[in-house]
Amino acid sequence: MAFVCAQCDQEEKRCECDRFCILCQGWDNVRLCNDGQYYCLNCREACDLQAQS
Ligand SMILES: [Zn+2]
Ligand SMILES: [Zn+2]
Repeated sequence: MAFVCAQCDQEEKRCECDRFCILCQGWDNVRLCNDGQYYCLNCREACDLQAQS
């Protein structure tokens, strides 16, 4: 099942929102996670979140 962006309701590949980590506001390796928010790699690892595969 595809994750969708909480802001625009589009899949990650179609989302054109400004992407930054909701936790640290970082831009590094930001990916959409299953809650519809974007997270950087460090925060995904810290919070055990999975990006869309
Ligand atoms: Zn979006
Ligand atoms: Zn982060």
